[in-house]
Amino acid sequence: MTHAANRADETRIHWKRVLEATLDERSVPFSADYWSEKDSWSRDRTRAVQDEKIRAVAPFLYENSAFYRRRFDRLGVAPSDLTSVESLIANWPVVTKQEMMEDALAHPPYGTYTTCGQKEWEDRGWMLFSSSGSTGVPRVFRYTHFDRRFWEQANARALHSGGIRKGDSAIPMVGFGPHVFAWGVQYTMAAMSLPVIPGGGLDGPARANLIDRFKPTVLVCTPSYAFYLGRVMQDMGLDPAASSIRWMITGGEPFSGVAGTMEKLQGLWDATAVEFYGCTEASPHCGGYSCPEYQSGAQNFIHLMDDIQVWETVDAETLAVTPRGQKGLSVCTNLTSESSAQLRFLVGDYTTLSDEPCACGRNHTKAMGCMTGRSDDLINLRGIKFFPVQIEEAVRAVPGTGDEFQIHLRKDGDLDVMTVTVEHTDPAAAEAVAREIRSRCEVRSAVQVVAPNALPKSQMKAKRVFDERTRA
Ligand SMILES: [Zn+2]
Repeated sequence: MTHAANRADETRIHWKRVLEATLDERSVPFSADYWSEKDSWSRDRTRAVQDEKIRAVAPFLYENSAFYRRRFDRLGVAPSDLTSVESLIANWPVVTKQEMMEDALAHPPYGTYTTCGQKEWEDRGWMLFSSSGSTGVPRVFRYTHFDRRFWEQANARALHSGGIRKGDSAIPMVGFGPHVFAWGVQYTMAAMSLPVIPGGGLDGPARANLIDRFKPTVLVCTPSYAFYLGRVMQDMGLDPAASSIRWMITGGEPFSGVAGTMEKLQGLWDATAVEFYGCTEASPHCGGYSCPEYQSGAQNFIHLMDDIQVWETVDAETLAVTPRGQKGLSVCTNLTSESSAQLRFLVGDYTTLSDEPCACGRNHTKAMGCMTGRSDDLINLRGIKFFPVQIEEAVRAVPGTGDEFQIHLRKDGDLDVMTVTVEHTDPAAAEAVAREIRSRCEVRSAVQVVAPNALPKSQMKAKRVFDERTRA
């Protein structure tokens, strides 16, 4: 064996040993409140574990990822320079999706930014996932069965915190494509010894019948699909609020942070939202989850699981660290994977982090206002920047508007113009929606009112933004 191959193996063995020492593999909860003892750790104890993991992961990445090795060498940083969270932030500039995309293009089909090579894939490969971002070339991530065990436990902590218990059963209504969200729920339900009723490959009425007959308690789908299915049930003469559904695990679209949407959906189903936030690049599980304090409605936030990942925010322009309490783009250092450990990956969701203690007893960082849209989705209209969710909030603020809406951007001569289409029985509602948009986004928009249910209902992730400005 060559010296380089030796170093690659040695650092991998050490990294996996450090990870295994933190694995609390269980099929029943540690206590009524916490799935794992780690949920009750102090901030100092969590920080010590983060620091120890950084010392093991830096040489592992250097020896096992060509992307990271090039970056270390280019920056003049040695793996031994990264000894703690503090030194990581001081020495290691954020890694962007653009860098990963360039690497994927130069080294198809996998790129070199992960640490699951062909040898690991053949020996213990589990699943291939693909980034679901709305821009750029798809980046793929191969994960191993070693990672799956950590993934299941992190997710179990999140679902337990959200209220999922023995007696619950889930119905996932998703395409089961190469996206982490639904697979994460699927495997975690199995790890928690909880049953699943497969709801794939069926239309709305068939799924409504499954719920009516077999009484699952947990809906797993996108928020827009939960709206759609609730309306299908109503059309069938079934009341979703009176159904067996008590929890909604949603993914794929911003949800909790969108004022009006969560209240409307929880009301439709008389069920509680369980937030489950993640990204493909820094899995197992990106670490965002809800707790009883959030569900009480006292504060709008999600927790971030600090012992498996380090979360920070940076300024959107300079990429410099923003202090706690100040808005910025989310950055994640993933400290729980042999396949895709990442140092300071720019996830790019706008949020404001807080270290304030939580009434639920967990000391994990809070993302206040939740995650309200990725920077990729930012709309720039005549120099004014806003997110589709801000338009969504404006639509929700007007009583009587339907579940769906659309944002159309086009050129009128040299001028960029926006038209928002909403459903309402009263055409005069246009004025109220336009006023709400103006006050939230500081931008003028035409508003078109169509009849209730005139817009297509989304079966999966809703397409709501139609940008036609680049067309001739
Ligand atoms: Zn909490």
